[in-house]
Amino acid sequence: MHAECCPVASGSFDIKDLIAAVPNLDKLAVISGEQVVNIGSQDMNDAVWLKLASRLGEVVKSPGTDAVIITHGTDTVEETGYFLDLVTKTEKPIVMVGSMRPATAISADGPSNLYNGVAVAVSPGARGRGVVTVLNDQIDYARNVVKTNTTDVETFRSVNRGPAGVSNTGVVTWFAPLEKKHGTSSEFSVDGLTSLPRVDIIYAHAGMNPDLIDAAVKLGAKGLVIAGVGDGNMTDAALARVTAAAKAGVVVVRSTRLASGIVYRNNEVDDDKLGLVASAELNPAKSRVLLMLALTRTRDVARIQTMFNEY
Ligand code: GLU
Repeated sequence: MHAECCPVASGSFDIKDLIAAVPNLDKLAVISGEQVVNIGSQDMNDAVWLKLASRLGEVVKSPGTDAVIITHGTDTVEETGYFLDLVTKTEKPIVMVGSMRPATAISADGPSNLYNGVAVAVSPGARGRGVVTVLNDQIDYARNVVKTNTTDVETFRSVNRGPAGVSNTGVVTWFAPLEKKHGTSSEFSVDGLTSLPRVDIIYAHAGMNPDLIDAAVKLGAKGLVIAGVGDGNMTDAALARVTAAAKAGVVVVRSTRLASGIVYRNNEVDDDKLGLVASAELNPAKSRVLLMLALTRTRDVARIQTMFNEY
């Protein structure tokens, strides 16, 4: 079994050192490494996503590669993973691993996460699952996973659904497959893309002033995601401005600032009347990823709502 390994994580470690630091990794797979970028994941951006997705698309086509492991900082792995899941047409396993503790820490978690990640990548049942994250013995679909704690090793959770499986000392148990569109069933692709449409996230709160909505539109946002209070709500003033933005052709998605839950269409807000999209299960960061890709295809609000229901 061969696995490619391409780190995009911050820090000073070369991929060869990361692989060498994990005892018995070579007993699981024949691994070759490639450094796509070396940044803190807080600096992740659209250009790197396009570069990484395009390289990943090439690598998975290689008959010599059975699976891909991507090392990634934990801050934005949930966004990168979802982006790659939406644009990479393959049944081959793609596993993202990271670490909450630095390599110098007592009980650093990086080596065991990488070991478990490779075990997941080569495990029977990994094919066709799309992009998953593996940290702290837990496997999560990139589409579902959220970083929930600033420093805890038990930080990654599939908040609305539960994990994809577990990997304990390399023994892998898979749970239910992800029925949402992704990978080979996704309509999205990075082929021919040199940039992504601008989508801004605006955080709602008590006393929310609508000025930032106007500013984002003036600065060229093609889409807006509101990290709404509760079920994707915002002040009347903000709602009036997003409605105006929607009428002017900016696609507005109502998500929630809450840790979990579904934003329902036409529940508290009349999305049909106001021309808005409800994010369903996707948090603001994931909504932004899907909206950027959706806007490469269409600006039709009904079509984009269907995407939010299906992906
Ligand atoms: N800010 C760092 C990052 O996401 C956190 C450390 C880590 O998770 O690698 O890259």
